[in-house]
Amino acid sequence: MYFISNIGVSGGAHRLWTHKSYKAKLPLRILFLICFSACAQNTICSWVKNHRMHHKYCDTNADPHTTQRGFFYGHVGWVLMKEHPEFTKKSKQLDLSDILSDPVVVFGERYFLLLQLIFGFILPTAVPIYLWNETWSRAIISQVFIRYMITLNAVWTINSIAHVWGTKPYDKNIKPSDNNYVNFLTIGEGYHNFHHVFPWDYRSSEKGNNRFNYTTSFIDICAKLGQAYDLKYPSENLIKNIILSRGDGTHSMLSEVSISESDY
Ligand SMILES: [Zn+2]
Ligand SMILES: [Zn+2]
Repeated sequence: MYFISNIGVSGGAHRLWTHKSYKAKLPLRILFLICFSACAQNTICSWVKNHRMHHKYCDTNADPHTTQRGFFYGHVGWVLMKEHPEFTKKSKQLDLSDILSDPVVVFGERYFLLLQLIFGFILPTAVPIYLWNETWSRAIISQVFIRYMITLNAVWTINSIAHVWGTKPYDKNIKPSDNNYVNFLTIGEGYHNFHHVFPWDYRSSEKGNNRFNYTTSFIDICAKLGQAYDLKYPSENLIKNIILSRGDGTHSMLSEVSISESDY
């Protein structure tokens, strides 16, 4: 269930619907809607709006979970508080027509509560009870409390931890950072410095950074099955130029260069 709910956020709401970093056929979009409902966060529209605002106005008052207002605010405080007037004002100008033209998203908006109840809580507790005789109390505690709490907090680490701690190999002038722990927790969303520089890369990381990036592996498998297509990613040359011109010097490519230089 941890993987299912996380893939709904990372592969669906994030890389597909927010950033349009690849295209998906109807069966895959339906699968993403089910997985996304299992994580019981927001509606897809509201998730996409928040995240597009986050990228557009990163770490300003119009960013819904800016860490400029503190680590706790970036993690969960923003969920508990009223949105900033700057966010309300600027988010009205945001164009969401592309996702509203997707019937899967529209269906998800209309039956939001029902879908969350079924895939987020009823099925995850009923299946273990009826299929392998799990006790009611254990099924409810493990799914409704523990799994739900852990997945929520895992996704939030991207907005908090990955905006405070980590390296900045691709742009030293922004707060988003690459963080391996966040990457492990979020099945591949932790290369956050890279992601803010190349938000349209379907891998959300550089080629080769596939450790724990199960989301990318999942999209690759879907592409092989013909369900995902038009996968976007930058050329290796472009990435290299960005590392050299804007990075903080922590990229492994630079240490390889200095080691080979010292060999001579
Ligand atoms: Zn971010
Ligand atoms: Zn993003």
